[in-house]
Amino acid sequence: MTTQSAQLEAATFIIVGGGIAGVTCAETLSFLCPTESIVLLTETSLIKAVTNLVPLAKHILKFEVEEKEAFNSVKDQINVIVDQLKFINSEEKYIITNSNRKISYKLLCLCTGARPKLIENQNKYVIGIRDTDSILDFQKRIKSSRRLVLVGNGGIASEIAYEVKNIEIHWVIKDSHISSTFVDPGAAHFFEMSRLQASETRKSSIVKRMRYSEADNICSEKGQQGAALGPDWHQKIDVNGTQLDIKEPVKIHQQSEVLSIKETPSLEYPILVTLTNGKVISADFVVSATGVEPRRNFESDANFKLGEEGGITVNDMMETSIPYIYAAGDVCHAGWNLADHWFQMRLWTQARQMGGMAGRSMAAKMCGDEVYQDFCFELFTHVTSLFGYQIVLLGKYNAQGLGTNYEILLRMTPGKEYIKFVLQNGILQGAILIGDTGLEETCENLILNQIDLTPFGDDILNPDIDIEDYFD
Ligand SMILES: Cc1cc2nc3c(=O)[nH]c(=O)nc-3n(C[C@H](O)[C@H](O)[C@H](O)COP(=O)(O)OP(=O)(O)OC[C@H]3O[C@@H](n4cnc5c(N)ncnc54)[C@H](O)[C@@H]3O)c2cc1C
Repeated sequence: MTTQSAQLEAATFIIVGGGIAGVTCAETLSFLCPTESIVLLTETSLIKAVTNLVPLAKHILKFEVEEKEAFNSVKDQINVIVDQLKFINSEEKYIITNSNRKISYKLLCLCTGARPKLIENQNKYVIGIRDTDSILDFQKRIKSSRRLVLVGNGGIASEIAYEVKNIEIHWVIKDSHISSTFVDPGAAHFFEMSRLQASETRKSSIVKRMRYSEADNICSEKGQQGAALGPDWHQKIDVNGTQLDIKEPVKIHQQSEVLSIKETPSLEYPILVTLTNGKVISADFVVSATGVEPRRNFESDANFKLGEEGGITVNDMMETSIPYIYAAGDVCHAGWNLADHWFQMRLWTQARQMGGMAGRSMAAKMCGDEVYQDFCFELFTHVTSLFGYQIVLLGKYNAQGLGTNYEILLRMTPGKEYIKFVLQNGILQGAILIGDTGLEETCENLILNQIDLTPFGDDILNPDIDIEDYFD
């Protein structure tokens, strides 16, 4: 790596990435170390900022994410550089950027996010959805297509299935129910009922979170790369097709995967998608919403310890295996001894929590102080919305790691709420709360304090009994 022509600049802290993790880390550092120099290195001048934090309980936060022009929205102390990290010299503690800037650091934090893991990488008919470019591509294809194959069963696939209209969607899921990343078969049934009931008069869900300003800039900045779009991307960008009167807009192919995608230039549709269950679908293109892989698009003089999914392993202080280098958000792998009710999922919530933790930890290192891991890593919490409902996921909400030794208590009012408690030996281990249940704080306390609920039996979810009165 040649560095001869580069002038050496210097900063106390360098944070790489303008997503939630990077911005939260930089803001935390600027609050804790107001006199130190901070560089935020980001590929685009649009950064992500958390706004409208609403606590639903002590540790359950609902927030919006806004996209902002970096230069106007961060404190003067944070020097925003729009450029790409190319190389890290961890021995001499400096980085080189794509435009050959050389900047030394005392502490460096990598928040470079993740990219979609596509079912076929080199196939022009297969696209993923992650950032501005991919949305533009998706929008263009939707307008000139009649049928798409949607692969995947997480939040993004669920949003596409629900929000994209006027095009025939064949939704291929390997599980036996929809939206399996977040919900169980019962909740999936609850959604399907709501979806079918609403299909005639379906309106867009009410969005209380972000509205992207990026769409306004979208055309003029073609070719840019940026942070993950996140939820509600479909609210500002028209992602509807042009086909009217489709009899079955979303056809779900359960327990199947894509076996092959073949080009068929002479036929009506350009591709034939064969599924593992033998079905063959002719289609215009495939959306692969099949998860992400950490984005390590830079070189370094030393090898980072990695998790099995390719994330940079960090300890409870967000330190990587290389001294003075930290990582946070989608790019990292949580390599500490996890608490009983927390696990890693590549989500906004965790990008924010990890970015904040990295900032606190880096600030403490600079001052020679000691910090403890934030309490948020004790309990998995995630607030999102699917199919127009608020969803709160807590702890082992899908009985993760409980084997077969657990009980489930359910309460469902179609079109209104779905409440699932996961109990082991009478103690609440996780919960799914869909709709406006008001049970967030109670559930948080029950899981964290591991209160024995056996005396209440099934009454714990009896609609005539207000369980909040017992435990708040
Ligand atoms: C369509 C979609 C829907 C989603 N829905 C939800 C949801 O409902 N709820 C939820 O919690 N999460 C959701 N997510 C996931 C969530 O968006 C991510 O977990 C979160 O944004 C990760 O934040 P991050 O800061 O780690 O990474 P990112 O947001 O990906 O940011 C990475 C940043 O690093 C920059 N970068 C990368 N490489 C370099 C480099 N070499 N040099 C300089 N800069 C670099 C990028 O430009 C970017 O600014 C969704 C994601 C997508 C794509």
